[in-house]
Amino acid sequence: MPFSDFAGNPETIHRLREMLARDRFPHAIILSGATGSGKYTLALMLARAMNCLERPSTDGLPDFCGHCSNCTRIAQSEDLNSRFAEAVEARENLRDTDKKETRLFVQTHPDVLVIPPDPPQMMIKVDQVRHVIETIYYRPGEARERVYIFTSSAFMKEAANSLLKVLEEPPEFASIFLLTENAGELLPTIRSRSMTFNLGALSFSEIESRLVKLRPSWNARQCALVARLSEGAIGRALSFDLENYIAARSQALIVLKSALGVNNRGTSSDHSELFKTTESYRSGAEGRAKIDALLRTLYSLLEDMMCLQSGAPQLVRNTDIMGELKKMSEAADFAWVQRAAAGLGEVERGLRRNLLRPLSLDAFATALEQAS
Ligand SMILES: [Zn+2]
Repeated sequence: MPFSDFAGNPETIHRLREMLARDRFPHAIILSGATGSGKYTLALMLARAMNCLERPSTDGLPDFCGHCSNCTRIAQSEDLNSRFAEAVEARENLRDTDKKETRLFVQTHPDVLVIPPDPPQMMIKVDQVRHVIETIYYRPGEARERVYIFTSSAFMKEAANSLLKVLEEPPEFASIFLLTENAGELLPTIRSRSMTFNLGALSFSEIESRLVKLRPSWNARQCALVARLSEGAIGRALSFDLENYIAARSQALIVLKSALGVNNRGTSSDHSELFKTTESYRSGAEGRAKIDALLRTLYSLLEDMMCLQSGAPQLVRNTDIMGELKKMSEAADFAWVQRAAAGLGEVERGLRRNLLRPLSLDAFATALEQAS
């Protein structure tokens, strides 16, 4: 998978490859962008371009072959979720005394180390950074450059301070990648010693055309819908669970329609459908994911209603239910939609205080009904 396969942000990719070509690659790079924007994919591509044994060039800039022994071993880290799960499981199987001392890494090439946040806190810990310090000053064995990829910017305080020491005196032959959704989370002193590159959102049409190619089992309507729902992040689009989304959305529609008094029974005082729906939102961890999905879809429907009300139908994301959305946005005014969005904020705060989920949702819908 050479650089031409990377989705979007061509100027950023060009600059990074130019620095590789001139042998001016920074020792520390912050790749910043939303979940699914391709930060990790790009870091692994750069790691291969640095260390490819054939190092072909395309458009006059360094690329990677994808089949030499360095490229193939580095590519084995691509499926981060699976490699991470394997590492967690391997640690679980250790004796208790060893477990405590074992830090989590993903490593499929001796000179390329991926450092994921360590569960259960999901933070980068000082022992992980210590391991980086222990190895980074040795010349690489099989690669030209040692590569370290931190997949999260959630550092424990001591870990961040240790990393800073490495950044103050990095060796010639190593590159550190820091991946983050929000570079502001990193210490200013870490940021000032790194070069930051942002991966911006892709357009609907860019994502849609990639999906048509990469997801042949999806029909044109599904590709168009997912492109709009993935917020410009190709990784989110490719891993989008459409079935789950549609299920959550149909429940969100019941809640909103009930609040609008346009439920399928045609009578605003009949809450049986609403109660039947909200009752299925039980407590516990599994229910947590379900209600999170519901809240996200509720927000996305409200945003679409706002787009319609403000005369910007081209920005609507749930394009497959345009007819229903139009009816709903006609039944409400702008102020109602704003109250609804504020009401969702209330529901979220209530959930954090462990209020019962069905009750919070019922209160949300019925309060809006009275207001309309
Ligand atoms: Zn290669």
